[in-house]
Amino acid sequence: MRAEIIAVGTELLLGQTVNTNATYLSQGLAELGIDVYFQTVVGDNAARIRQAIELARARADLILFTGGLGPTMDDLTKDALAEYLGRAIEEHKPSMDKIEAMFASRGIHMVESNRRQANLIEGSEPLHNEAGLAVGNAFTADGTHYVLLPGPPREMKPMFDGPAKAWLRTVMNEERRLYSRLLKFAGIGESSLENALIDLIENQTDPSIAPYAKEGEVAIRLSTKAMSELEANGRLDETEKAIRERVGQHLYAREDITLEEAVIRLLRASRRTLASAESLTGGLLAQLITRIPGSSGEFTGGVVTYTNLMKHRLLSIPLSQLEGPGAPGAVSESTAALMAERARELAESDFGVSLTGVAGPSESEGKPVGLVYFGLAERGKQTKVFTATLNGNREMIRVRAAKSLLYRLWQ
Ligand code: ATP
Ligand code: MG
Repeated sequence: MRAEIIAVGTELLLGQTVNTNATYLSQGLAELGIDVYFQTVVGDNAARIRQAIELARARADLILFTGGLGPTMDDLTKDALAEYLGRAIEEHKPSMDKIEAMFASRGIHMVESNRRQANLIEGSEPLHNEAGLAVGNAFTADGTHYVLLPGPPREMKPMFDGPAKAWLRTVMNEERRLYSRLLKFAGIGESSLENALIDLIENQTDPSIAPYAKEGEVAIRLSTKAMSELEANGRLDETEKAIRERVGQHLYAREDITLEEAVIRLLRASRRTLASAESLTGGLLAQLITRIPGSSGEFTGGVVTYTNLMKHRLLSIPLSQLEGPGAPGAVSESTAALMAERARELAESDFGVSLTGVAGPSESEGKPVGLVYFGLAERGKQTKVFTATLNGNREMIRVRAAKSLLYRLWQ
């Protein structure tokens, strides 16, 4: 929010009074996080006050006036602003009662002009004056906020610090927007992620840190309310940095994209292609990748070789490798390596990947449910095989196996 302070008073222009109010208000606004772009001084002259308003309105969201709320003919601020905005002047009954009571208690005759101190601009909020008679005003018109405060510092200060600041805080709160950032993680489970960040999640309210999991991926949403994207980003960056220090190696995106999209983007950027051979996932990996529009540029194709016969026929893996006494079996490191290599060769792609394992519900080849081997063959490089024992039911194991392979690829 950009603010302008307009101090009204010919005595300021004549150099008879030092404009200490502007200093005080600038400090107070800075504390509220409001930027003061201009301080203006104008004399007690309706036409020039209107000129000052005109100028301020074009370059500020908040205009704070000080001075010219008193009873005399040279106190023009409310009238000038009301006229400029085409708003009427209303009498604030409680302020009027207070003024009448004050004169009555002192037993002095009230000059009619004193009533002016109870004036309010139509549609504005009264700001209580605990040290004087002139009531302050605050309102918003056409997106510009106006605050009118008296000139005498002993009246202005408590009015600004009390009711005016309270009003400004409400306005700022209403204008603050919610900004959020999504951080997406792979290769780490929801509970491990939460554990690694538990103190941050529990102790931090701004930005708030909310973890959630879906489809084999975990994400964290950081949210904060701010006046601008710049302000929000400052806070979001700081929290993201703290999170990165702990689990940065698992952070694959700062936007809402899936792990397979991140992998495809990496392949696209390096102009490389990928082929797959799947057993336990039955084509799930190919399905995840081909859901992405345009993935044909990076994904050459995949085979589903579920039985040993198909592994033999489509991928030329010797049956002796797959079955019989002493054979490594379909769920093995060496079979995973061969599957990945043959898929890569078949497709003439840069990468070949494979998935073989036990999805359950019962064990296979004497190997436990959840045991998975991931083959990763790369042109001109030694083939790598990773293994993992995944938790969950059959479907969860299949999804986790596909995502784990994608995570290896992303790394
Ligand atoms: P009053 O009821 O006293 O007339 P007002 O709200 O009309 O109050 P002004 O008439 O503009 O305010 O100023 C009253 C006195 O307050 C000034 O004579 C001066 O001493 C002081 N004052 C006004 N403006 C400022 C300022 N910007 N900085 C410091 N003192 C100020
Ligand atoms: Mg005055």
